[in-house]
Amino acid sequence: MDLLRTARYHDWLIISGSLVVLTVVTAAFHASSLLSFAAFADSGGPARWSGLPARLLIGSLLSLLVAVVSYRLRFLDSSGSVATFVLGVIIFGIGGWPFSAPMLSFFFLSSVLSKVAERRRREISSLFEKSSRRDAGQVLANGGIAAIAILIWHVTGAPLWYMLFLGAVAAVTADTWATEVGILLGRNPRSVINWLPVPAGTSGGITVAGVAGSVAGAFMIAVAGWLVRMPGPAYSFGIKGIVCLTVSGVFAQVLDSVLGATIQAQHVCPVCGRHTERRLHCGGVATRFHSGLRWVNNDVVNALCALGGVVIVFGVLRLVDGRI
Ligand SMILES: [Zn+2]
Repeated sequence: MDLLRTARYHDWLIISGSLVVLTVVTAAFHASSLLSFAAFADSGGPARWSGLPARLLIGSLLSLLVAVVSYRLRFLDSSGSVATFVLGVIIFGIGGWPFSAPMLSFFFLSSVLSKVAERRRREISSLFEKSSRRDAGQVLANGGIAAIAILIWHVTGAPLWYMLFLGAVAAVTADTWATEVGILLGRNPRSVINWLPVPAGTSGGITVAGVAGSVAGAFMIAVAGWLVRMPGPAYSFGIKGIVCLTVSGVFAQVLDSVLGATIQAQHVCPVCGRHTERRLHCGGVATRFHSGLRWVNNDVVNALCALGGVVIVFGVLRLVDGRI
């Protein structure tokens, strides 16, 4: 299998490192009675607020741990670590385990996938705007909408916001996995717009492997959310919910590809003449704006993908359950 051959010693070190971190974080959550979310059985207001300062304190410590370890593992650069810490306080401290587990699954599994795909990515990376090390823009684009959903859930207590949160995470996971699996195993990418062949790494290019990756990513988040969901009938969702979330995540990823091929800013390198997302190319030469909207970079497209996930899951849930 291609993926296993590509992963060398150093990749496996990263993979085992992240599994250790995941285990430590899980153990910390379970060991702490303050983070027991049994009190969240229903959408009663006071339960969400009780013990909040203590939960924020523990959330900050866990968040600091994740930010530092991710920096050491080179998942994140320094700006990305700071952004991860801030989002982590919201996710761990306010959301608790039902929100943290899907987000951590996205974060660590996607980071490992990016690292494994890094060698292949380097061959075509001159087209990509970003490397496998994520910065603040990427972290906020991928996690910002989800964090906002947590804050709204906390204030309103409406269980629907748990599903909408999962919709945002399923969307960004589907998108990340489509990109990384597409880079690793995808061959002969075609434009999502006109189905013509495009060079590997082109925004809006899709491959069969990429689509399979996006289905797997969205499904993984749906299952993670189902496994750790809050107790109580308001939060129970079965196969139907898992299917809705998976389908929504994949649709949001398709939306991401369409936006990538249409409104995302594309530049042309004056030296080599290639089309790229990058502002600098061929050893730091400034590229010329070519098409799309100037202010729409990859981060804007990713944030719109997350927002798309929220909107699409809301629509799909409405379709299958008139009460929403
Ligand atoms: Zn160039």
